[in-house]
Amino acid sequence: MDNKTITLIGAGLAGPLMATYLAQRGFTVDIYERRDDMRSVNLSAGRSINLALSVRGIHALKEVGLYVKIQPITIPMKGRMIHDMDGKTHLQPYGQRDDEVIYSVSRAQLNKDLMTLAEGTGKVRIHFNHELSTVDLQNNMLSFSHKNTGEIVQKDFTCVIGCDGSASVLRDEIVNKTKARYTKKPLGHGYKELLIPPSDDGQFQLDSHALHIWPRGEYMLIALPNMDGSFTCTLFLPMSGKISFDSMDTGSKISELFQSQFSDAIDLMPTLAQDFRNNPTGELASVYCDPWHFQEKAALIGDSAHAVVPFFGQGMNASFQDCTVMNKLMGDYAGDWGDIFSNYSKLHVNNGHAIADMAIENYIEMRDHVNDPNYIKRRKLELDLEKRFPGQFIPRYSMVSFHQFPYSDVYKRGEKQFRIIDEILRVDPSGENIDRSLVNKLLKS
Ligand SMILES: Cc1cc2nc3c(=O)[nH]c(=O)nc-3n(C[C@H](O)[C@H](O)[C@H](O)COP(=O)(O)OP(=O)(O)OC[C@H]3O[C@@H](n4cnc5c(N)ncnc54)[C@H](O)[C@@H]3O)c2cc1C
Repeated sequence: MDNKTITLIGAGLAGPLMATYLAQRGFTVDIYERRDDMRSVNLSAGRSINLALSVRGIHALKEVGLYVKIQPITIPMKGRMIHDMDGKTHLQPYGQRDDEVIYSVSRAQLNKDLMTLAEGTGKVRIHFNHELSTVDLQNNMLSFSHKNTGEIVQKDFTCVIGCDGSASVLRDEIVNKTKARYTKKPLGHGYKELLIPPSDDGQFQLDSHALHIWPRGEYMLIALPNMDGSFTCTLFLPMSGKISFDSMDTGSKISELFQSQFSDAIDLMPTLAQDFRNNPTGELASVYCDPWHFQEKAALIGDSAHAVVPFFGQGMNASFQDCTVMNKLMGDYAGDWGDIFSNYSKLHVNNGHAIADMAIENYIEMRDHVNDPNYIKRRKLELDLEKRFPGQFIPRYSMVSFHQFPYSDVYKRGEKQFRIIDEILRVDPSGENIDRSLVNKLLKS
């Protein structure tokens, strides 16, 4: 195979985007995807029905020219709408400015549009129903089993990029070959998708410009709006224990849980019992792998490199940013895949690890802290500091969602800022009277 042809595994969210970047640089791309073509067969697109898209993802979609098509099917969400036990709600804005919002988008539509965009370059072929089963990195050979015929198909390659998601087969082989450091850390919590349909006259039944959260300590329910007036709810529960997916084994237990904990949501969920029974329970885990490549032959992007738990709404955004980073390196090292891949691992692995860690921390914040007076005071102080010290103090959530700083820098800067907040509150526990000279001194140090 010539070195102008690149092989990709997986046509989920990251694969077709990476293929488009490659095609725009003149490469021919073969993508092998285990599923059928979701544009012609009615398939679930995967883990979640909708996703939160933010700046890193939008940047990549703009670079390949798809954002103009996607933007009209997005719904801006300006903050977290917290639902208390008594049904009262209050909005915690994500940022200071009107444009500091994140966007709900349909995973299926985005995935379909990305595939069509890639094929539209005339340089990308997607081979559906091909499941990668084994990889021989020494002899540059991939084996696929054809989902319909069971036939084993062998393909040689020059350079292969794994976009095959969190259970990546290519990653397993890279880990074998490089003795890469690799951990898959289960969260011990899972999720299930449920539905709030539109009202009889087709309207949203909750505020459509917010991400709704019912925080309940060890677990939570969230809801994101869809273009058809519905909300997709996701229930996050421990996998085992007193209140868990294991223990929710009868309709009455589910109904009891919702009546007692999510009383303002249950009335809007006429198909709760069926949805709970019929929809799969997904398990959550974080993947840490280092490096993300093998010589000049293979690399990983997206969840195959760094599956993260979904609580920062960054898995897809981070995956799209991988493609942006790889595209820049392709420009810097003009076709030298050894240099492209080694710099990709060197520059970017720490960012994958940082967002994986921040996403776990955000779960605890969302399910447990958002209603804690101390959290609310710190959050208000963060926003005040951002207003009074523009550019010098940026809340961690904003650095992740509204800026494109590398995640590892965000992590480090965020830790320093948390210490600044500790110090301000030590001096003035109310957080109301910000001492400018103290903050200047802390920011400088
Ligand atoms: C409940 C939930 C909610 C989420 N919400 C958000 C959010 O709000 N915002 C956000 O940014 N991210 C979110 N994410 C994360 C996001 O879904 C992932 O980060 C994103 O899908 C990663 O894209 P990917 O292309 O790497 O993997 P995937 O989208 O999983 O695509 C992998 C593709 O590879 C194919 N494949 C797998 N194995 C093989 C094989 N052996 N051979 C051939 N093909 C194969 C699969 O069929 C699939 O098409 C969420 C995740 C979950 C679970």
